[in-house]
Amino acid sequence: MAVLVTGGAGYIGSHMVLALRDRGETVVVLDDLSTGLQDLLLPDVPFVQGDIGDDAVLDRIFAAHDIDAVIHFAARIVVPDSLADPLGYYDNNTIKAHRLISASVRHGIKRFIFSSTAAVYGETDCQPVHETSALNPISPYGRSKLMVEWMLRDAAAAHGIAALALRYFNVAGADPLGRAGQSGRNATHLIKVAVETALGLRPHMTLFGTDYPTRDGTCIRDYVHVSDLIAAHLCALDFLLHKPQGFSVYNCAYGQGASVLEVIDSVKRISGVDFTVRQAGRRAGDPASIIANGESLRRDLGWQPRHDSLDEMVRHALMWERKRSNLQPYEPDR
Ligand code: UDP
Repeated sequence: MAVLVTGGAGYIGSHMVLALRDRGETVVVLDDLSTGLQDLLLPDVPFVQGDIGDDAVLDRIFAAHDIDAVIHFAARIVVPDSLADPLGYYDNNTIKAHRLISASVRHGIKRFIFSSTAAVYGETDCQPVHETSALNPISPYGRSKLMVEWMLRDAAAAHGIAALALRYFNVAGADPLGRAGQSGRNATHLIKVAVETALGLRPHMTLFGTDYPTRDGTCIRDYVHVSDLIAAHLCALDFLLHKPQGFSVYNCAYGQGASVLEVIDSVKRISGVDFTVRQAGRRAGDPASIIANGESLRRDLGWQPRHDSLDEMVRHALMWERKRSNLQPYEPDR
């Protein structure tokens, strides 16, 4: 099977490329390298540097490679950025996704997997959230992704495509073998920020909001290990192979929540560094708590998470960060 991976030079996409290659699939990567990194690309995987919204680039790729499935990761993903630059987010995440889906239809692609997000649920009283829970995104980021789910649902019905969206919860950790990890500059995601602070790459970190209605006053998220997330995509590909058409959507999460303070505690414990944490007010666009029900993914797609421990995610994130920063590396898992 040949798979086009958009955003294959990014954090999650690079893990996807490794997993597909480990399985012996043919992979083509499309990435504009705006946040992705050249050195995460594999030398033996065809790479096109280009824009997912560029019809000419897409036509060239689909004409040159006999693509069976598209896995679409390329997107802007920072909630506060999306509040500052909503139109940029709608352009990149929604309008360009429309171009990509249109090109896929034009070239007869029958399988499409889309990276959606927990942010489509927004502020919700329903915990854990099910796929059928109310959708009430509170950020342009969440709305930019939800619109793509809707487009994909309609396009799948009209054009005989088997499409699937995975709603990611908070992805963290790194390849247990130390081959890939989160590498972008100016990271904003909690585990990455805390790990960088533990390793002395930042003088301190900021804790946003201690007055949420949660067990310790800080926000609760359902963190999922990137390797388990990628395993979900492989399950999704297999599922779509046997599905003639239609759209499905699944939460990808463990159904367990960790607070910001619990994450910080885990990073301090595992790194052995008592780094400085400054408290600040709430960050705009942050819901107090999001925990998912991930049962449907296990039941329908046979997903079996193997790394569902916060400490393991933190350990792998630390391992990768030390490697990236040329610090004394930890031993990778065997
Ligand atoms: N957070 C924090 N300090 C940071 C980064 C994040 O306190 O430097 C908090 C953030 O306010 C949220 C949680 O950690 O409550 C998870 O944020 P992240 O950006 O990792 O993911 P999101 O849930 O926004 O996608």
